[in-house]
Amino acid sequence: PARLRFAPSPTGYLHLGGLRTALFNHLYARALGGKWILRIEDTDQTRLVPGSVAALQETLEWAKLDYDEGPSTGGSYGPYVQSERLDLYRAYAEKLVSEGKAYRDFRAEVVAPGTDVSRTKHMPLRDNYIPPSESEAKHLISLNKPCVVRLKAPSGALDHHDLVYGDVHFPADPQRHGTEDPILLKSNGWPTYHLANVVDDHEMGITHVLRGEEWLPSLPKHLWLYRALGLQEPKFAHLPLLVNADGTKLSKRTGDVRVESYREKGVEPEALCNFLGLMGYNNLAYHQSADGGKEGRVEGEKDETGYDVLTMQEMIRGFDISHVNRSRATVDLPKLYYLNARHLALKLEDTRTGGGRDDLVAKVTPKLVEAFPDLAKKFETDPGFVESVIVLTKGTSATLYDVPESAHSLFRRPDFTSSEAQELFTRSSLINTHFADAVRQAYEQYSTLEEWSREAIHRVIADLPKLLSDAQPPKDVGGGAKTKVKKAAVLAPLRFAISARERGAPLADLFLFLGKEESVQRLNAALE
Ligand code: GLU
Repeated sequence: PARLRFAPSPTGYLHLGGLRTALFNHLYARALGGKWILRIEDTDQTRLVPGSVAALQETLEWAKLDYDEGPSTGGSYGPYVQSERLDLYRAYAEKLVSEGKAYRDFRAEVVAPGTDVSRTKHMPLRDNYIPPSESEAKHLISLNKPCVVRLKAPSGALDHHDLVYGDVHFPADPQRHGTEDPILLKSNGWPTYHLANVVDDHEMGITHVLRGEEWLPSLPKHLWLYRALGLQEPKFAHLPLLVNADGTKLSKRTGDVRVESYREKGVEPEALCNFLGLMGYNNLAYHQSADGGKEGRVEGEKDETGYDVLTMQEMIRGFDISHVNRSRATVDLPKLYYLNARHLALKLEDTRTGGGRDDLVAKVTPKLVEAFPDLAKKFETDPGFVESVIVLTKGTSATLYDVPESAHSLFRRPDFTSSEAQELFTRSSLINTHFADAVRQAYEQYSTLEEWSREAIHRVIADLPKLLSDAQPPKDVGGGAKTKVKKAAVLAPLRFAISARERGAPLADLFLFLGKEESVQRLNAALE
């Protein structure tokens, strides 16, 4: 059975790229019917950030990426934190030394404190150094002389098949590979990333390694290690880098890379996963079955904008590693917010997501209370009411946190004196051309309406264009045809009259929510 792993280093907050890696591990593991684990790679103690393991686990939980084994979950391959497995790495390193495949290096420049041994690029070459024999080495160690353990890197080119990159060739460039002897154990006895990573992938029975493209250059070291240890290597898939719209690498300086910041902005985890799931992925793949797409279309929808709105289950069902492309994936934020609005609507419908409404209500209630404190009691005691507010505002809310702003006209009378309202009125001929006539007609009809139902409200709106057209004075004295007033030319003024806005919930829904008295009063006030 397939076993995958997400192996972050606890060096700070989880980035979008990290979440993408976790997500693809989740999707692929589930698609293969296998398991995936969380492993904490904390062997570089100088880069640790306190609290990041807990934050990481919390973020994965928020994103609903449920792994099968991990530091808090447990499992039969633990411990899942590398700093708790040091003896294991030492044993592997010793084995390689005793077999003559690795050696101890006592040179001062190599073992000097502060040497960044994880980056072995410019290390002195083995050719210049004759390592001590085992007995000499034992003697030096007994004298407390520090040393590192280095792998004797084979020379020669390497060929490898990557599940995403295809056939990869690492040439026997003496400047880059064959002569670089990677450090396995540092002078403090801790393993380097390379040793710990390979040992653990083996010990934990990992069959597929999915990780960021930035690790591809390290692959030769890992392959050498597997070979030196006589171990079967897992399959590798390197995922393309996420980049900004201008092609630059996603970084702290160029934008929001922290997953937490999207959470704070009110982005739904399902939307963020959907967004990342499409990244570096041939979207069409989700609409095809694994056997080439003749049937079994995944029921995720592809709407008029061409974006796939997919739940986690739908992504799992459609996942195929061969559809991950090599080209770098652009982080297109408008798309994220578009998907977010679509996921909000999905949760409200509750059909494909199998729940989520209560979750939305719970999240929005405190925000509404904060924005409209006078209505706190109503919000807090009537979840159905909060839900109706979400439904009414979903069309104008990119995230749940926009709901209070979108809901403003539900609870507050429009302020026509505001500069926004005045600017809108002046700018929009759709609003100002028939404003007075449309609002007066609506006011007259609605104030005499007996039954305040959706149908009755609709009927009035539907009849207005004709009423206004007929009421127009003839165009010229010669009796030319009257211009026909279009429906939009009625809707826009009415919306402005009751909300001082251009967009919002369907007009009839708005009238229905406000009730007859409030609606009629607002129309009347707008005429003054
Ligand atoms: N600890 C590495 C990281 O932080 C993991 C690389 C790998 O998955 O092999 O990205």
